[in-house]
Amino acid sequence: MSLIKGETGEWEVVLGLEVHAQVISDAKLFSGAPTTFGADPNTQVSLVDAAMPGMLPVINARCVEQAVRTGLGLNAKINLRSVFDRKNYFYADLPQGYQISQYKDPIVGEGEIEVDLESGGTKKIGIERLHLEQDAGKSLHDQHPSQTYVDLNRSGVALMEIVSRPDMRSADEAAAYLTKLRSIVRYLGTCDGNMDEGSMRCDVNVSVRKPGSELGTRCEIKNVNSIRFVKQAIEYEARRQVEVIEGGGKIVQETRHYDPGRNETRSSRSKEDAHDYRYFPDPDLLPLVLTQEFVDGIRATLPELPDARKARFIKDYGLTPYDAGVLVAEKETAAFFDTVAKGRDAKEAVKLVTGDFFAMLNRRGASVADSPIKAEHLGRLLDLQADGTLSGRMAKELFVAMEETGKDPAVLVEERGMKQVTDTGAIETAARAVIDANPDKVAAYKAKPGMFGWFVGQVMKSTGGKANPKAVNETLKKLLDA
Ligand code: MN
Repeated sequence: MSLIKGETGEWEVVLGLEVHAQVISDAKLFSGAPTTFGADPNTQVSLVDAAMPGMLPVINARCVEQAVRTGLGLNAKINLRSVFDRKNYFYADLPQGYQISQYKDPIVGEGEIEVDLESGGTKKIGIERLHLEQDAGKSLHDQHPSQTYVDLNRSGVALMEIVSRPDMRSADEAAAYLTKLRSIVRYLGTCDGNMDEGSMRCDVNVSVRKPGSELGTRCEIKNVNSIRFVKQAIEYEARRQVEVIEGGGKIVQETRHYDPGRNETRSSRSKEDAHDYRYFPDPDLLPLVLTQEFVDGIRATLPELPDARKARFIKDYGLTPYDAGVLVAEKETAAFFDTVAKGRDAKEAVKLVTGDFFAMLNRRGASVADSPIKAEHLGRLLDLQADGTLSGRMAKELFVAMEETGKDPAVLVEERGMKQVTDTGAIETAARAVIDANPDKVAAYKAKPGMFGWFVGQVMKSTGGKANPKAVNETLKKLLDA
């Protein structure tokens, strides 16, 4: 918990997040129109999405399944009966004049997720609900100097609105919650979590209070589209509220907007209460009734989620909670590590993956998915080191070659004749040659044992760096000290 220091003492920040997560589905929530990102404006619009008179919505079973899957991943209660309501408001990009959403009876009820804090500990954050709703279209203000265009491609796309409890107490905790939520939906395959493409957007409810006192009035910062901006918006807004209250003012409940360019929040409109939307059950849709068998069937297909995978990595591979947390955060990274570590020395695998491998990805600005080095190949590199084919230095060299060529290290070893020389006979011959050619250095070594390294260097050089360093050391010791 981080408190804000004001003139009248310390203030506590109270945060709740509402996340709109776009459902991974080929079709929209109530129509068969496609949902591909980046399509030309108004090319993915059915008559239902354009709200032509007399059109009727038909629920997309795939979206229902995805919402249930997400609810289960959030350890939440699945409501077997839920209701779609109309949330009425006027906007140019909302041709229906209402959004079909869920109000009193959402498809998913209370749940809970555990987030990893920077301090190393964990904290449970409550989920209040998850409901299904339609996205609206998009107003394009930058296409014409005096007119606004409307793109209805997003109109009707299925969203899951995931509402947290006001359980977070700092910008870092909010960021940790969002990171965990994104990780879970990605593992589940229910939302791609790409905030820069708008498939995950966050509304942040911020209020401040003196520690231990009642909740203060909150402001809602709408549609923040990156985790960094969420943190910045919270930090600015909490401080603003403290200054208003300490200056003798009052916080008014309102919707605010975060401007990353100026790093400030600005008032956009006074906040509507639920009754302003005149919610009522959509007469075009029956209540959504699920069977327990349907829910259980989805539960049976849930993948291993981040928490379970973290626990397994700690138990099976002996990883520290920190290393395990880093490796499971992204599904692809976790799968990659699993492949590298399975059946091998896990400590060596962690060192290689979190060391040279992550450094290589960083340098290239690449993700695990488009890494030039495959997991199988990285595992084989460890094998080649373990069986003595490669020295540590040769393995580093080969790693670079693997990055450049994308080839299997076993193939590269053959191609480049990189086999380490462990044959003690050959090493001894090389060592004797160096000793015989340098009697002066041998004499110097007798007086100053620090010279030993020079002999090692010479033997490595004469064997083209392929000699096993341990064998070279042992052989030289034996010959020089004889
Ligand atoms: Mn919503």
